[in-house]
Amino acid sequence: MPKQTNYNAGIYVRLSKDDERAGESLSIENQKLILTKYVREQGWNIIDIYVDDGYSGTSFDRPAVQRLLEDAKTGKINLIIVKDLSRFGRNYIQVGQYIDYIFPTYNIRFIALNDNVDTANKDTTAMDMMPIMNVFNEWHAANTSKKIKAVIEANCKAGKYRTTFAPYGYVKGDDENHLPVVDEPAASVVRRIFEMRSQGISPRHIADKLNEEGVPTASDYLYAKMGKPNPRRTSHLWSAERIRALINNPTYLGHLVQMRTTTVSYKNHKHVKKDPSEWVIVENTHEPLVSQEIWDKCREVEASVSQGKKTKSGFIAPLSGLMFCIDCGEKMRLGWNNTTNGSKKKPRKYVRHNFNCGRYNRHGKIACNSHYIKMKDMNAIVLTDIRAMAALVVEDEEAARQKFLSHKEKQNAHQTELEKKRLHEGRYRLAVYCQP
Ligand SMILES: [Zn+2]
Repeated sequence: MPKQTNYNAGIYVRLSKDDERAGESLSIENQKLILTKYVREQGWNIIDIYVDDGYSGTSFDRPAVQRLLEDAKTGKINLIIVKDLSRFGRNYIQVGQYIDYIFPTYNIRFIALNDNVDTANKDTTAMDMMPIMNVFNEWHAANTSKKIKAVIEANCKAGKYRTTFAPYGYVKGDDENHLPVVDEPAASVVRRIFEMRSQGISPRHIADKLNEEGVPTASDYLYAKMGKPNPRRTSHLWSAERIRALINNPTYLGHLVQMRTTTVSYKNHKHVKKDPSEWVIVENTHEPLVSQEIWDKCREVEASVSQGKKTKSGFIAPLSGLMFCIDCGEKMRLGWNNTTNGSKKKPRKYVRHNFNCGRYNRHGKIACNSHYIKMKDMNAIVLTDIRAMAALVVEDEEAARQKFLSHKEKQNAHQTELEKKRLHEGRYRLAVYCQP
């Protein structure tokens, strides 16, 4: 296609009060002067000069620009010329839309004189730069952040440890990669925490134990070592959350696991957790504080938490924590005793599990009855119940749902009754106790 040489130009000029305040040097008259001179030099026809005086460029709701765009669409003009991109508009998304999509559709040439933007000369640097000029600040911020992230990731993959402080039990090494170095006595506390957790002791109880012993918290220890007061707001006590975070930190296995969190975007610096598949892991970089065996045991314990409480014998009762005393409403407690069975010649030793009312367990007969039941029997009852329920659902789902709901309602009513009863008892006891 031969290059078009004859153009019908529409000159657009704009000035707002804000532009004047911001030191915009070119008045409406000056803009007109420069642009008409240029158009005449090129030998093009000036069809009209469109003037928006006192209108902001942030919206396209301006009378002259609307007339200009209308004339462009109808073919009255086929060239639009402005002093610079910001004269045409300051809404970068809309400006980009006009220049990239709408003007080419109507075969309009667009020139922003001082920015060297000319849609007829697409190969110029200015044209390449135009979208970037439009969104420069955003692009700059995004790109910088991306570059920084790429460098960080490369460093992590190369096994460089990038952290301000190594996790509790380690210190940052002096080597070029700053790999963690074992730090006693904190390291032995870490080993103990993993040991306890692997035995099924809850994070809550581990924290309690450390607090009882007066073991300084990780952050208190860190700052005491630096000889500074702890600047963090702290209760100076170990918490279950802290223990949980510690036993889930793979650094203790001797692996460098980095980039576990990221920021939402370059505009939002909130830290969010990354999917483990996106972590950068370099294995066996430093001395572990925990063996793979203990680590795996901890994972098993963590996985079993939702299934019920683990007893000292390592047994998980499926109904633990789900059964309640019918008289007082307290949780039924799992107990066990060592039993011998079989003949005297061939004794069989085993552990028998049973449930008792928790209130009875703590306070004895004065509080409640034992409601002793063997776990084996209880399991059998529940299993029969589940089977019956399943059969019912298969037969008539809606009827099963109704039955379940009415049962639930009765159960709730019963629970309320029990609570009322306990309240009454409590008041009675108080009254007796307080009598002169
Ligand atoms: Zn009870």
